[in-house]
Amino acid sequence: MIPPLLPPLRDLNSELILEINKKLTLPVKCCCQTGRGVSASLASYDRYGIGVKIRFCLQCGTAYISPYLGEKEIAEFYRDDYQCIYGRAANSSQVKLRQSKRADLFSQVASLFFDVRRFGDKFSILEIGSSFGVCIQAVSQNLGIANTKLAIIEPSLEQARGIAASQKNIQVLNCLEEVSDNSLNLVFCDHVLEHILDVKYQLKLIEKKLNHQAGIFVFAVPILERFMEIRNKPYAINFHVAHVRYFSICSLSILLRSAGLRVYEVTGNCTREEGEGLFVALSSNASDWHCRNLSNWIHLVPLTEPPLFLRLAVNSVIFMVSYLAIRVSRIKNALRLLLGSR
Ligand SMILES: [Zn+2]
Repeated sequence: MIPPLLPPLRDLNSELILEINKKLTLPVKCCCQTGRGVSASLASYDRYGIGVKIRFCLQCGTAYISPYLGEKEIAEFYRDDYQCIYGRAANSSQVKLRQSKRADLFSQVASLFFDVRRFGDKFSILEIGSSFGVCIQAVSQNLGIANTKLAIIEPSLEQARGIAASQKNIQVLNCLEEVSDNSLNLVFCDHVLEHILDVKYQLKLIEKKLNHQAGIFVFAVPILERFMEIRNKPYAINFHVAHVRYFSICSLSILLRSAGLRVYEVTGNCTREEGEGLFVALSSNASDWHCRNLSNWIHLVPLTEPPLFLRLAVNSVIFMVSYLAIRVSRIKNALRLLLGSR
């Protein structure tokens, strides 16, 4: 491994960097294809100086790390290193505070679709990547639906056990396969899809598990072409080893459609954060039911798949802007460190 020319944007234990570097061995293909595809190299290092090779698929507009950690290594990474890498304690009150704020956003979107009286005794919610379980409890309370069935999937065993022990009304599941088909009314996840290696397979499962008469999938993800919105941090800081992929609006549209989901972006006066997008997806097989209460505050914009020539043009621009922005922000960071140290 050749060390990076410019200093990293975040500090990390050098032993951990070496250890993760050694484990990056699994070749990854873009989620839009099975073999062939036009891709270009976007970066060779992440913000910590870990040698992640980030490719950018010009066909769909996804950036992805290849080679990446295998399934066993990912499990170890989330068990041992993830909290450390993010620089937060395993029981952070900051994370819990953020989760309750995000619950407002998710329940606001979900409440547009569901009539509380209709779902009086059989409403089912699943959160994927629930961390401390604060968000799902708050979403359930905000929706005000009695006798709601709550379940979570949380890859960190320690956190999952903590939730199981302290919040008895939440069922802790190992995987989506454990859920009955056509059963879930609300599935949601907050900045999780970009961490999932087999994301297309998992999205297909979500489609299968959603109630086709009344089921929605609400999710927020970082959006590559919106990283420019984040003004108070260096651009290259957005790229790090925990995210196997970075979606663009175009690549999300292609991915979700291929998984059998129709997807809408939630826009308007909702409080999405800089650099992210908030979306609602329904099964393509869902019966034709709609929002009961679309207001002046929130709008749903359907995501469509642009023709190939337009995609290639837009994706080329996204690639060039990202490529330059990563390098400029690294140089600015190096200069800041150099001048600051004198
Ligand atoms: Zn692709």
